Amino acid sequence: MLKDIFMGLSQNQLLNSAAKKYGLKMGAQNVVAGTNIEETIKSIKELNAHGISCTVDNLGEFVFKEEEALEAKEQILKVIEAIHENKVAAHISLKPTQLGLDIDYYFCLSNLREIVDLASKYDIFVNFDMEDYGHLQPSFDLLDELSKEHDNVGTVIQAYFFRAEDDIEKYKNYRLRIVKGAYKEPEHYAYQDKQDIDANFIKLIEYHLLNGKFTSIATHDHNIINHVKQFVKKNNIPNDKFEFQMLYGFRKDLQLKLASEGYNFCTYVPFGKDWYGYFMRRLAERPQNLNLVVKQVFNK
Ligand code: FAD
Repeated sequence: MLKDIFMGLSQNQLLNSAAKKYGLKMGAQNVVAGTNIEETIKSIKELNAHGISCTVDNLGEFVFKEEEALEAKEQILKVIEAIHENKVAAHISLKPTQLGLDIDYYFCLSNLREIVDLASKYDIFVNFDMEDYGHLQPSFDLLDELSKEHDNVGTVIQAYFFRAEDDIEKYKNYRLRIVKGAYKEPEHYAYQDKQDIDANFIKLIEYHLLNGKFTSIATHDHNIINHVKQFVKKNNIPNDKFEFQMLYGFRKDLQLKLASEGYNFCTYVPFGKDWYGYFMRRLAERPQNLNLVVKQVFNK
């Protein structure tokens, strides 16, 4: 019930635009690293000091105006320059709809090409985040196109989709992030039951780990993490073949613990003014995150 309410709110265009004007509110500042690049680099340096690398996401999605997509591209190019200049351990995560996928496929491709070209010059990896089902195939198509030109690209496999097993087979030579899946998807495309999603998640993680390609296991679920720890040990998979990933501000103690145990750890660092949809999805996933909001309201 709460999940559906927050999912609905996450897609509300009016609230989304209003939120951009008012800066980080409602506890979003606990899970969003900052509104500008300087604040974000500072947060990355702090995480790097604990042996944690970062993947940086300039917040924004479902963009329908060319000027907004171009603005997002410029901002991401600046982030790449900042990562390079500051010599921080970080790479890029981006959403194709922020770069114009809903406006025109080729416009989006050209924006992405500029980003991937610059990142490649500095040897910085670019991850294409995966969004809802309607954007899944076009996002894979963009990846196919750009991976003909550069090898610093990879993407995400969402375990709730029935087609995930075929996709992971097709992209077995890529660096992949594997997640459960964050959007509300209909039952004819996606598992709905937590047990089914978890079982498929584990299956996909094991498959890609055994393939020997770099695997990012992105989850806050300690049961999955413990399972992976046992699995890599049993199968002699070296630590440099995988990493754990979590979102900025979540389970900070566990993030530090995993890094201190010698596992590669990467924190997903979102920043920017367009925090609303991202924040609502986090509330939908885990209504306990409402604590963040409540604390913020009462601490005023
Ligand atoms: P859940 O299934 O939400 O939780 C499982 C259990 O873990 C809970 O019952 C609880 O016991 C424990 N737990 C979870 N969170 C907490 C917490 N904060 N504190 C204490 N215990 C907790 N989705 C996409 O669709 N596309 C993407 O590109 C994408 N990229 C992602 C990148 C990263 C780095 C991460 C971490 C997630 C990403 N996601 C993405 C979101 C993902 O698909 C899930 O929606 C999200 O991670 C919630 O699932 P979970 O595996 O973390 O655990």
